[in-house]
Amino acid sequence: MPLQNADDLIDSVETFIFDCDGVIWKGDSLIDGVPETLDMLRTKGKRLVFVTNNSTKSRKQYGKKFETLGLSVNEDEIFASSFAAAAYLSSINFPKDKKVYVIGEEGILKELELAGFQYVGGPDDGGKKIELKPGFYMEHDENVGAVVVGFDRYFNYYKVQYGTLCIRENPGCLFIATNRDAVTHLTDAQEWAGGGSMVGALCGSTQQEPLVVGKPSTFMMDYLADKFGITKSQICMVGDRLDTDILFGQNGGCKTLLVLSGVTSLAMLENPNNSIQPDFYTSKISDFLSLKAAKCLHIIPHSLSYPGVTPHNHMSYFGVTPAAKATFPHNPGYDMPMQET
Ligand SMILES: [Mg+2]
Repeated sequence: MPLQNADDLIDSVETFIFDCDGVIWKGDSLIDGVPETLDMLRTKGKRLVFVTNNSTKSRKQYGKKFETLGLSVNEDEIFASSFAAAAYLSSINFPKDKKVYVIGEEGILKELELAGFQYVGGPDDGGKKIELKPGFYMEHDENVGAVVVGFDRYFNYYKVQYGTLCIRENPGCLFIATNRDAVTHLTDAQEWAGGGSMVGALCGSTQQEPLVVGKPSTFMMDYLADKFGITKSQICMVGDRLDTDILFGQNGGCKTLLVLSGVTSLAMLENPNNSIQPDFYTSKISDFLSLKAAKCLHIIPHSLSYPGVTPHNHMSYFGVTPAAKATFPHNPGYDMPMQET
């Protein structure tokens, strides 16, 4: 349903988890009203967490992006799928003397390094070519105990073959995906093949399914709930994508809010083929402020005197009947909240 009473939602949870692209920013531009909205939520004592499936950056690198956009966000509040991959390996006590083969970009390497894991691959393998001379045999490191696959602009056949050899030939080697997003928005001109395309290549060659640590898998949700001691029903997941963000929230037992400022349009949400329905949807997160500002008009004495209008019920206030409107045609404040929705 459309979000009509922001305060009710805000009061009902203690933590907001925000997806980033399409919610906080679009590419390198901040979405209107985001700083004020985050400030308001912090003032109300809400915990804010930012979760992204993009694995190309580490938490530190994301922190810099927030800073560049003028948002003060602590590194501890940022959870990227690059971090999730390293956190997963830590959670299973992945042996420090084993190596991780990385198909992906710098974010994954930095997080593995911070967590104390050894790795091979990554951007270093981006320029490697394979010449299929007769009898050519590709060596691989038998000490690789996990292959982590994320979005990789320098994906190539060398990486596919290396990762495949590790998964197929090293006993017990794990196959971990940061995410399986079909498409991503590298530029605002079109959709680009996402991390799911790299993961799909390895699925094809290994005939195995990966363990996914990013959205919509609940690994990060469980991790966050555990780390901060949050009850999941006290979380609202806010995102722009149905099959990752909203499903992530639903899988985790949280409230869900879809914003239409990213990849999902109202037509897509309402399409009969769409089976994922958020608890609420709204155009952008700064609607929290406009709905709140509108509600403040309740304190104007004459607005409290409408018959049949309950001041504490935002929906009935906006849904005031034509008959009630006809009763108060000259009220100067009457139409203001309608405009602000
Ligand atoms: Mg998004």
